[in-house]
Amino acid sequence: MLVVITGPSGVGKTTIIKRFLKRNPEFKYSVSLTTRSPRSREINGIDYYFVSEEDFLKLIERDDFAEWSKVYGRYYGRLKKDLEGTTDSGYVIVGIDVQGAKKLKDRYPKGLFVFLMPKSESALENQLRSRGTDDPEEIKKRLNEALIELKQADDFDYKLINNKINQTVKELESIIKEQKPKKQ
Ligand code: 5GP
Repeated sequence: MLVVITGPSGVGKTTIIKRFLKRNPEFKYSVSLTTRSPRSREINGIDYYFVSEEDFLKLIERDDFAEWSKVYGRYYGRLKKDLEGTTDSGYVIVGIDVQGAKKLKDRYPKGLFVFLMPKSESALENQLRSRGTDDPEEIKKRLNEALIELKQADDFDYKLINNKINQTVKELESIIKEQKPKKQ
């Protein structure tokens, strides 16, 4: 079963997924590859596989990606082998931007696609600013993009407002529980 969590940058996809994984260890998190530099505290192989642009382009050429996108000028992608039932339980969860999620939906229509919404635009803006790792231009770019992405929420199976982390995780769990028999 493939569960895809999407939504704008800063909405809390990573936090929700981390909390979810602690409570649902049968799920495996699929780590993506990126050509952007690691932020402080990010670990290669855990947060992302940080690779050079040259290596990334080689993998594209070999058709190894289930999907890849250029986001804010950097490449991001997920390898097919990481998404196609390599876990014992067969449960995989993915956090991905909106354009990437749409590509995954085309390739894996039986997946469960959840769009995470911020509780408000200002909450999203605050979250992007509080990261303190992206420069103001970058934050502005991400915020503009987020407003466009929010309009695409209806293209996915579920919309989930990320109001309180624990509550959001519980709602996600019940969506998954409900869908398990249908989606497998
Ligand atoms: P960040 O640089 O903040 O970690 O991520 C920027 C955006 O890229 C986020 O919206 C994130 O979800 C998205 N992203 C992360 N991994 C992938 C991936 O494998 N493919 C695509 N298309 N987007 C990704």
